[in-house]
Amino acid sequence: MNIAIMGAGLSGLACAITLEKAGIRPAIFEKRSQVGDRFVNGEALLSIFTHPDRDNIATFSDQYGIYLSPTSHIQRMELFSKNKKAVIEGHLGFSNIRGREQDSFEAQLERQTKSTIKFHSEETYEQLLSDYTHVVLAAGDGAYSKSMKNFREDFTVSIKGVTISGKFDRYTVMSWLDYDLAPFGYGFLIPYSEKEANLSIAIPDIPKNAHVHISDLWDVFYQKVRSQLVQNLPITDQFQITQYPIGICNSPRIGNTYFVGNCYGSMMPFMGFGQYAAILSGVYAAYDLCGMGNYEELMKPLRQSYENSLVLRKAMEQLSNEGLDRIIHSLQGDWADKLFQSHRINPLKIASYLLRPYIKLKNE
Ligand SMILES: Cc1cc2nc3c(=O)[nH]c(=O)nc-3n(C[C@H](O)[C@H](O)[C@H](O)COP(=O)(O)OP(=O)(O)OC[C@H]3O[C@@H](n4cnc5c(N)ncnc54)[C@H](O)[C@@H]3O)c2cc1C
Repeated sequence: MNIAIMGAGLSGLACAITLEKAGIRPAIFEKRSQVGDRFVNGEALLSIFTHPDRDNIATFSDQYGIYLSPTSHIQRMELFSKNKKAVIEGHLGFSNIRGREQDSFEAQLERQTKSTIKFHSEETYEQLLSDYTHVVLAAGDGAYSKSMKNFREDFTVSIKGVTISGKFDRYTVMSWLDYDLAPFGYGFLIPYSEKEANLSIAIPDIPKNAHVHISDLWDVFYQKVRSQLVQNLPITDQFQITQYPIGICNSPRIGNTYFVGNCYGSMMPFMGFGQYAAILSGVYAAYDLCGMGNYEELMKPLRQSYENSLVLRKAMEQLSNEGLDRIIHSLQGDWADKLFQSHRINPLKIASYLLRPYIKLKNE
């Protein structure tokens, strides 16, 4: 058995590290010049999205031998709708950095990988399939899965993000659910440190947003955050992504090809969180390759999370600012802190079951 991994990102490197623990050295092919050679951005692992796993960083190290240092743990989340604010406190998850930085998650994973990474790779999937007995597709989007007719695309999303300088509390993330700022989408502020943060907005490319352009929304959002934080927040770096596909593979494995990370569909439709599922999918594909599990079976809970998350995304598209105000208002109080940290209750699963009868999904 010889294994090729296409893509040295979260899922590809998690797969390589797990294979190496079983004594297998895969060949890793990365099209860029270095790991994380893309825009820098702040991301988060929020435990409300990974129920029942309350501490993703501990799980990665204790259960899978993958060691990641986040930028910070998140102790406070400030949620803003048009007219309301809720503050959730407690151990809510972690923030981390992605991209070209030396402590980005992908850079940390690379330091734990022993296998050789071939950079500037131009190998196609077809070439890898003819040269290797097994191929792990970890290229970070659904393009290959789609061309192989294995991908159900549910929608696309446009995102604009920047790095800003200022004064931030590294334990606090902020989110805006205000459709005047980001219609049917959201905004996030995730600090990298006390002095730098990532500020982004994302909107779904749905018919209701046909005449909305992310760059036009940006200026209003940026001004709003500057006045809310009473800071100038100069921009030092930026990126924009348009029509990024969100969807999921019909089969996580076809023949000896494994679809992992976003190639499978790790990015959750509701708020775009995908790091947790990307890393786990890489580990699970490796387990299958080592004879330690069945990839399709292992992926079932992650697929279910994706489907639940899709229901919430569709529900979000039917809300208005008044509805969002009511939701944010209801999250004020101790009960919301408890809900966000509950070991027993999975609020997103419950919400998706309650909402499912009212939502029309593509696959139903
Ligand atoms: C703007 C943005 C913000 C996000 N925020 C969050 C967040 O806050 N929390 C969260 O949990 N998730 C977030 N996500 C989702 C998360 O980043 C992804 O789900 C996760 O990175 C997917 O991992 P992956 O291994 O599939 O892809 P990646 O980690 O992107 O790795 C893919 C790798 O494949 C390489 N590659 C591409 N094509 C080829 C090819 N043809 N040959 C060889 N190599 C190739 C790429 O260069 C890259 O190195 C966000 C995503 C985006 C875009």
